[in-house]
Amino acid sequence: MQEAQQIKDYVRKIIQESISESTIHQNNTQSQYPGVFKTVDAAVKAAKVAQKKFEECSLATRKQVIEAIKKNMLPHIDKIAIDTVNETGMGRIEDKKLKLKLVFENTPGIEDLISDVQTGDNGMVLYDLSPYGVIGAITPSTNPAETLLCNAIGMLAAGNAIYFSVHPGAKDLSKWTVGEMNKIVYKEIGIDNLIVTIETPSIQAAQEMMTHPDISLLVVTGGPEVVHQALSSGKKTIGAGAGNPPALVDETANIEKAARDIVAGASFDNNILCICEKSVIAVKDISDFLIFNMEKAGAFYIKDSTQIEKIRAMTIMENGNPSRKFIGKDAKFILEQAGIPCDYDPKLIIFKAEKSHDLVMKEMLMPIIPIVEVEDFEEALATAMEVEQNLLHTATMHSTNIIRLNKAARALKTSIFVKNGPSYAGLGFGGEGSLTFTIATPTGEGTTSARHFARRRRCVLTDGFSIR
Ligand code: NAD
Repeated sequence: MQEAQQIKDYVRKIIQESISESTIHQNNTQSQYPGVFKTVDAAVKAAKVAQKKFEECSLATRKQVIEAIKKNMLPHIDKIAIDTVNETGMGRIEDKKLKLKLVFENTPGIEDLISDVQTGDNGMVLYDLSPYGVIGAITPSTNPAETLLCNAIGMLAAGNAIYFSVHPGAKDLSKWTVGEMNKIVYKEIGIDNLIVTIETPSIQAAQEMMTHPDISLLVVTGGPEVVHQALSSGKKTIGAGAGNPPALVDETANIEKAARDIVAGASFDNNILCICEKSVIAVKDISDFLIFNMEKAGAFYIKDSTQIEKIRAMTIMENGNPSRKFIGKDAKFILEQAGIPCDYDPKLIIFKAEKSHDLVMKEMLMPIIPIVEVEDFEEALATAMEVEQNLLHTATMHSTNIIRLNKAARALKTSIFVKNGPSYAGLGFGGEGSLTFTIATPTGEGTTSARHFARRRRCVLTDGFSIR
């Protein structure tokens, strides 16, 4: 009898211990994904510990980590593309696959960290690029995994750890991506938590991260509000904000090619990239021929002013913002919702509009492109500048007149200016240059890469190593 009671007490004790142990474990532990924490503070602190270990590693080790991420994430492209479209409800799976493939092929690593040296009578000075520490990177809902992977490669190349503040609407695929990258890094070099995030992202958590003392640099890819918020944090910020890229077409352009390029660029991933053409400014003499060729390239042309108004009223909410219901959706879906019959799957919706039209002036992020007719190149350039609204983000131009191309590039002052190609050539798709999804216009870095995620430091040697 006494023995039975002793066994009961023993079992109760074991159960109590195991319950309290599992509570402790739950409170402290991460989610099912490595690198995903419950709180901002726990995540940043873990990243700080990891970064200290990482900065002791050689450049060869950084290179090894980046190569391992590229190689081991590549087979997951289809999954990430599908999960992104399913979770965010935006974009096209095939285009996402192309973007992801390019991340692994064309995101520069440590080779982007270029040191420079000056020598003279007083010796030598070396400018070198060293890590910031833990970077707080904010990613958008529109290119969530692409930005996360591309940022991670560049930021790790520069020797940093990264806290990713991801959009709540893309949290599941972002946590999975963070988890996979951590597994790869740990397997390669035995360091945990170089890339972290939290279980339940929110605006409040993003703001908490922005003021966390252990975050050394903010890299923000998103709309104007979050860039403004980060710039007000008092921390060094690389801000990549909104754009409204016009595509200029003059009468000297190869119109058939211009039409194909604009349809390809503006319809890419259903126009959710900040660099995508958002309107066309065309000289009157060629505008109808341009439209004819855009239709041939897969655009659906609306002439009826009632239908155009229906699209406008449906896609813009009462508060004047684009309706999330239509951001990144297929042109066919938008037409169906507007009750406009179409018996094929168009890439893009186009119509003629005045430059003051809402869909010209607002960054819609939808496959809908208004065409503004102008008398000549001079008016085209003035109109494009009004439409771009001094965001200085991206513009494209189709012309064979070099003087005009040069004049427009100088006047528009955009971070990206593409001549005679689709907008995505400015990201390194079919154009020269490396890939980035973080185009930092408000803070001036432009197309960012590893070198922007590093601190430039001066190291001086007096009276030596000048052998000129
Ligand atoms: P968004 O601004 O709604 O969200 C971007 C990120 O900021 C998200 O992680 C979100 O959670 C966070 N956020 C939003 N408001 C915040 C606030 N007040 N405080 C703290 N965090 C906040 O943008 P989105 O809809 O996800 O993405 C589309 C926008 O991003 C477009 O304007 C597009 O032009 C821009 N964008 C710019 C670039 C570029 O390189 N310049 C690249 C991609 C997207």
